[in-house]
Amino acid sequence: MLNQNTIFDVIIIGSGHAGAALAISLRKKGFTGSILLTGEEAILPYERPPLSKEYMQGKIGDEQLLIRPDEFWTDQRITLAMGCAVNELNASQQYVALADGRTLGFNWCVLATGGKVRRLKCEGADLPSIHSLRNLADAKSIRDELTEVSKIAVIGAGYIGLEFAASARELGKSVTVIETQDRVLSRVTSPVIASILEEQHIRHGVTFHFGQGVSAFHGDGALQSIALEDGTTIPAQMAICGIGIDAETGLAETAGLDCDQGVLVDSCFRTSSPGILAIGDCSRHPNPFAGSRWRLESVQHAQDSAETAADLIIGEISPYAQVPTFWSQQYDLRLQSAGLNIDADDIIIRGAKGSTPFCAIYTRKGQVIAIDAINAPRDFMAARRLIQQGSKPDRSSLTDIDIPLKSLV
Ligand code: NAP
Repeated sequence: MLNQNTIFDVIIIGSGHAGAALAISLRKKGFTGSILLTGEEAILPYERPPLSKEYMQGKIGDEQLLIRPDEFWTDQRITLAMGCAVNELNASQQYVALADGRTLGFNWCVLATGGKVRRLKCEGADLPSIHSLRNLADAKSIRDELTEVSKIAVIGAGYIGLEFAASARELGKSVTVIETQDRVLSRVTSPVIASILEEQHIRHGVTFHFGQGVSAFHGDGALQSIALEDGTTIPAQMAICGIGIDAETGLAETAGLDCDQGVLVDSCFRTSSPGILAIGDCSRHPNPFAGSRWRLESVQHAQDSAETAADLIIGEISPYAQVPTFWSQQYDLRLQSAGLNIDADDIIIRGAKGSTPFCAIYTRKGQVIAIDAINAPRDFMAARRLIQQGSKPDRSSLTDIDIPLKSLV
């Protein structure tokens, strides 16, 4: 039974980037009400980008991953319920039921439940040493096991697969990447940028199998080999699956909120139920750069959507209109992307292939809509502003590396 003492002004479900950013942002904006931040993992909110990179390579430890130190949350009067899943969200009566038996009411509830990894279901997919890499526990077990293995297969050539492949090569492991599409990063970038990253991996000794799925994992108690759909056998003692995520919408769906490949929200991240918001990877919002509803999977979006939600809670309406940005580090290549290259009708190359800085600028009817910048932070920053402004610079000035993009802003 609920009593008045168990009502929080804001309950945040999910302590990933979006959830933690919301709690931090609320306090920064002067919100003095009570905040409860809940998370399924029994650990303080932490940064995920290093998991596939510096953390995997043993360059940093758990402490350096923390978004804020322990005392921050107490000082800021943010109540934490870590290691405590929310089992139920009741939208009409505005309460949540936690796994530890508590029932807590709210004035605002914010879903920041993120995504759940897709898993392979083929023969042998439950063998040990077949991992996903989404959270700290995944990263820890992979890192511990890495010392024991020399041959690794990576399934999926998205960000996770490629970043992990680069880390594993730097640790001296033999790495084979298996991807159903005909190139790397097909979901997020153009063939020209994909080929630069692919060539860099090949130079570092990675082997690719494109247009191939896994038909079976083989091994007697431990993984020994992987059979591809075309009959090829790949020896492997460990496999990392990075085949994408789906929005975690379970709680929202059972609470009766409108969901369709994500929790449906408006431009202030309000769901179909009053007082309930959804932010970060789990939400699908009307995106001005996509021209339709979109679900963004990035740390920047987690941060931006948290800011918008915090504004709404403190009574300032500021509809979300930030240019989406993404980044990835593989070996000495830093890829920074801004905008969404949907329906681009021209790709303008800035730089010479085979060297960096190198950029692909995407335009639609002459308007700059996106950029992929490799080792070109200045061009990335300037292009982000061109995208925000809806600029239509001369094509010739975009290709000329002697004209700084900044001068076109
Ligand atoms: P992803 O970017 O969706 O890439 C997954 C890739 O795996 C896709 O090319 C996909 O092809 C392919 N694939 C799907 N099923 C396959 C199968 N059965 N066999 C082989 N390949 C298959 O997802 P991700 O790399 O797993 O990343 C997960 C999430 O983490 C994403 O939200 C990502 O943005 C985020 N992340 C971001 C960063 C960063 O921003 N630097 C770093 C790490 C992770 P299809 O398109 O055909 O499905």
